[in-house]
Amino acid sequence: MSRFLPVLFLIGLFFFMWLFLYAHQRREKQKRALPLREDYLVAHGHDEPACFACGKDQLKDEGLTSGRDTRRIVSCEGCNTLLYRYERPAEVVDDE
Ligand SMILES: [Zn+2]
Repeated sequence: MSRFLPVLFLIGLFFFMWLFLYAHQRREKQKRALPLREDYLVAHGHDEPACFACGKDQLKDEGLTSGRDTRRIVSCEGCNTLLYRYERPAEVVDDE
């Protein structure tokens, strides 16, 4: 039995890696399917953006693919729910 342990360990490891990647892919897909800011506000009847799941108004603003991406994804600081997306005008970068 003990000689199968390394194999079982590897199978377990691959299974967890697969689960992790699956969850990550799912969240990436959800981000791209989020409503736009205006649609989100109308759909939930808010004047100011707030989380529809827990009601907090502290929100996280992240780039879709990187920190400087102009496609912004907004999620809740408190419960991590994905809320909406919006397009930010490209930053003017000073090279000096
Ligand atoms: Zn929340």
